[in-house]
This record gives sequence, structure tokens and C-alpha cells, in this order.
Amino acid sequence: MSGNGTLTISIDTEIAWGRCDRRITQEDHAALARERAIVQRLLALFSAYNIQATWAIVGHLLLKECSWEGAVVHPEVPRPILSGEIGDWFFQHPSRAVTDDPLWYGRDILELIRNATPPQEIGSHSFCHMPFDERRSNSDAVRADLFAAQELHEAEGLAFDSFIFPRNVVGYRELVASSGLKGYRGNTPHWYDSIPVPPLRRLLSLASFVIPIAPPSVRPSLDSVGLVNIPDSMLLMGRNGLRALISSRALVRKGIAGLQRAVKQGEVFHLWFHPSNFAHRTEEQFQVLENILQHADGLKRRGVLKVRTMGDQITLFINSQKQATKNSSKFAEVRETMMLATEDRTALRSKILAAFHEALEARQQHLSCELSDNAILLETGLDSLGFAILVVKLEEELGYDPFVMMKEQCYPRTLREFIDVYAKSYQNNHD
Ligand SMILES: [Zn+2]
Ligand SMILES: [Zn+2]
Repeated sequence: MSGNGTLTISIDTEIAWGRCDRRITQEDHAALARERAIVQRLLALFSAYNIQATWAIVGHLLLKECSWEGAVVHPEVPRPILSGEIGDWFFQHPSRAVTDDPLWYGRDILELIRNATPPQEIGSHSFCHMPFDERRSNSDAVRADLFAAQELHEAEGLAFDSFIFPRNVVGYRELVASSGLKGYRGNTPHWYDSIPVPPLRRLLSLASFVIPIAPPSVRPSLDSVGLVNIPDSMLLMGRNGLRALISSRALVRKGIAGLQRAVKQGEVFHLWFHPSNFAHRTEEQFQVLENILQHADGLKRRGVLKVRTMGDQITLFINSQKQATKNSSKFAEVRETMMLATEDRTALRSKILAAFHEALEARQQHLSCELSDNAILLETGLDSLGFAILVVKLEEELGYDPFVMMKEQCYPRTLREFIDVYAKSYQNNHD
């Protein structure tokens, strides 16, 4: 896999909805009013660098009109949304007479994204940006929110695959899965997360942008409810307040280091932001993103980087799972037809384990899990060069290399499959 990284960009598209539970100030208002121009500019940049991104949109922006029951707007969403909520979640919602307030409605933004070249993915960022917080939010409200978002996507003929949790609070995943969504952007744990004092934590998270450590590269995985989790690598943060202290150069350096790490690890660099992160020091912010995209473009031209939306990642991951299942049934067939006597297999197993330990030693590496039959080879702690050494050692010991003898290449994933490959060739060699 090494030498083949992926860039994924996801954008939380919400205009005022990200702040609907906090009073929107004059300053907020001015920044949010710049959002459409920012979306247009982002799309132009994506067009220039041929980038397909995922725009997770708040469903309410797609509405042509709102539902009312007397003075209550959106009666379909149960209240209170959060326990201990003093006011109504929709307290800043425009009045009945206003159906085109640009801060709360955004069908024009949908059209901009939908008509962009290259095609962009439109994902979901919930219906009304309520936190999916299992300790605080009402599950009926979450269910109603997902249902409303799903209906709006369906009515527009939009896919409903990728989800971004409001405020990145990952919760109610069963409800997310049963709404038909297939995957989400998860949170990568950071070293400063465990700092108990919030202001200090924020300061350290800022400091992490100055320290020359590459942001994490990530790997999609299947979570316990069957959703594909594509964790984040880096936020392209806004540049107001304290965050203005971080230089553009530091941000670009971080982004490039993230891309390089993803390529080296054969993993994903998952960059994310809101259009509003470009509302302050706009020119500088666009220059930061462009510099990162320029670097990505160079890697793309060298054939070591691909750009994929979250939806592409999800499809790719699901297909690779299917392939893995197919492969393991291929191995099961091999196992069934295997005539090797149990005692021979036990002897073979211990030879393989002994060689495994020698390979670890040769590479000065350590086991990171128990060497059971179900151990995943890539997670044992032995690197790819170590595996090459293992195969050479076994060839010396057993007199054959089953991987060169294979008619159809299939790569073992677990230790059991690895032993099966040797057992099968052992049998062929001794027939
Ligand atoms: Zn509404
Ligand atoms: Zn948001």
C-alpha cells in the first residue's frame, strides 16, 4: 500500500445553523454574509485543481418552506432538543413571513455545489445542526432530525451516504445507521485531549500547529454498528481571535506534512473546514489552501496520491470488505480440501512461529498482539521487510516459497491464512 495516499476534503456547510443556539452577533452576521462568495471561490479552486470534495450540508438549507403549527416552527422535531434547554432550539428561526433569509436558507448554495466541475459529493450535516449528544439530546429529536434530512436529500435526488456530526459529537450511531447513511467523519484522538482544563487544552491544540509534527494520517474502518468511520486529520482553522497567532506558513507546513505522511503510510489525509473558516483574513486563508492543493497536485502527478470524497472512500471500503470475505472463503475452500494431517500442520505451525520470531528479532521489532490463528498479519508488529525476511527464512527451512508457486495470487490476511498457504504448498510438494 505504501506510496499510495489519499486526500479527502470535507466541508461543513451550515451558514447560521452552526450557531443557531447562540445569539448571532453583528460581527457573526457580517462573516456569515460572506459565505456564498467563499463557497464560489472554493469551488473555483477545486475546479482549477480537479478536486472532488464532500460538502456536508445542513438539511434546512434545502427547504423551500418551513412547517408551522400555530406559532411553533418545525413541530415535526420534538422539543426540548437538549435536556435542560432554556429556550427553543429554533429561537432565532426567521418568522413565518420570511422564507428566503440567506442565513437560514440556501438552495442557491445547493445549486452552486451541484453544478460544479468536477462533480462534488453532497453529504449530510443533519437537518438543524442539533448535537447528537447521547447524554444531553432527546433521541426522538435526533430520529426526527435524521428523517427530515433524509427526506430532503431524497426529494433532491441526492445521495445520503456521508454524514458529519454537528460539532463533531459522535453519538446515536445506531440511529444514523438506520437512517440509511453509510459513513461519517470520526474524531482522531489528539495528545492534548486528556488535558482537563479547557483553556489550556485549546492553547495546546493551537501550539500543536507550531510544533513540527505531521498531522495523523487515517484509515477508514468499520464501527460497531456497521458504519464506515473516516476520522479527521486536520482542521483548516479560521484565523480570528487567538488563532490569528498561527502563521500561514505553519498551516501550510502542517498540511503538506499531512499529505506526505498519508503517502508514506498509504493512508488518508482528511482535511476539513467550514466555509466560515475563510471569513477572516480571507486572502491568506485561500493562499494556505491553494498551497496545500498545489502540493497535492504534484503528488497526484507523480501517481502517489488520489483525491477521494468521503462517499468514494465508503464505497471503496465496502468493496474491499466484500473482496476480503470472498478471499477468506477462497481460503476456507483451500482448508477444506487440505489433506495435511493435523500433526503435520502443528509441526508446520511451530516452524512458522519460530521463523516469525527470528524475523522480528532481525528487524528489532516487537510483537504487538498475541500470535493466535486469528491475528491480523499487518497488526502483528512485523513490517513488510520483516515479512520478506520471514518468507526467505521459511524457504531455507522448508525448501519452498509458496508465493512464487501460486497460480492465482491471494494474499493471506491472518496468521491462519498464512499457515494455510504453506500447508497447501507443503501438500503439493509432497504429493
Ligand atoms: Zn425552518
Ligand atoms: Zn457544523
